[in-house]
Amino acid sequence: MEYAENILETIGKTPLVKLNRLTSELPCLVLAKYETFNPGNSVKDRMALQMVEDAEELGLLRPGGTIIEGTSGNTGMGLALAAVVKGYRMICVISDKQSKEKIDILKAVGSEVHVCPTDVAPEDPRSYYSTAKRLATEIPNSWYVNQYDNPSNCKAHFLSTGPEIWEQTGGKVTHFVVGVGTGGTISGVGTYLKMKNPKVKVWGIDTYGSVFKKYHETGIFDKNEIYPYVTEGIGEDILPKNVRFEVIDGFTKVTDKDAAVYTQKLAKEEGMFLGNSAGAAIKGLLQLKEQFGKDDVVVVLFHDHGSRYVGKMFNDDWMRQMGYLE
Ligand code: PMP
Repeated sequence: MEYAENILETIGKTPLVKLNRLTSELPCLVLAKYETFNPGNSVKDRMALQMVEDAEELGLLRPGGTIIEGTSGNTGMGLALAAVVKGYRMICVISDKQSKEKIDILKAVGSEVHVCPTDVAPEDPRSYYSTAKRLATEIPNSWYVNQYDNPSNCKAHFLSTGPEIWEQTGGKVTHFVVGVGTGGTISGVGTYLKMKNPKVKVWGIDTYGSVFKKYHETGIFDKNEIYPYVTEGIGEDILPKNVRFEVIDGFTKVTDKDAAVYTQKLAKEEGMFLGNSAGAAIKGLLQLKEQFGKDDVVVVLFHDHGSRYVGKMFNDDWMRQMGYLE
């Protein structure tokens, strides 16, 4: 018999899949690290489990404890799965701009959900950020995860995602392209691949409305770069500790419209039903065309599943309303 002891053992070892149509104008081989095969349907299962297990080892999380995180999406799902299997209470603190579907999904996997107002400053006691921190001081035996600055986030990708990509390409990978949010994925994978071969180039995908690209190019944290945007999962208005700018060779920014249109194209032209940051990643990769030669092996990582976006990028009424479809 061959079986996993529990669902957490199925995290990782995701497939690498060739792109065929969308990349036909490129001279190189383009392979997608397809992270929706994880049990929570996203790459975030990897870092969620690593953060929980490291917190257990450090004694921050003890039997009967409570895990608290400010998240609405993939990290909440990954943490919730770990909490169910390992017997912890899970609390997700989210802002009220999140859809009811997202709240219901978190509740389905046993999480309690606290909803906070969106239109208050982070330091306001009602914000989701302040609420998560307050709950962590009020609830005995609780642990506040903080995926932005938690070093186990990046570590998970250094220990699993990076080595998998290296082995699956037989060490032939020349470029790694990926969307950047907390920075855990690009930094962990990037550090590993450059350790194996310093010639590997690492490119981050950023959004208009985010600080990363300008900061990387100038060292300036420019508040003028910050404005609201539609693209989900990538870009930030802060510099998380998990972004290691020194392993990143460059960033390219993708517009909200292009990210949404290419999310649809991935589904319709490659049969890849994926989230919005995958659309941004593949469009960003195409923008980097000049970087690639005929012998290159370019790996792009796709973070999450299309099912979380059926009300948006996969809804043509929404797409038209946004002006993304003619
Ligand atoms: N895409 C999606 C859908 C995400 O949820 C995230 C995490 N915010 C990212 C991309 C970015 O990944 P990371 O946080 O590892 O930089």
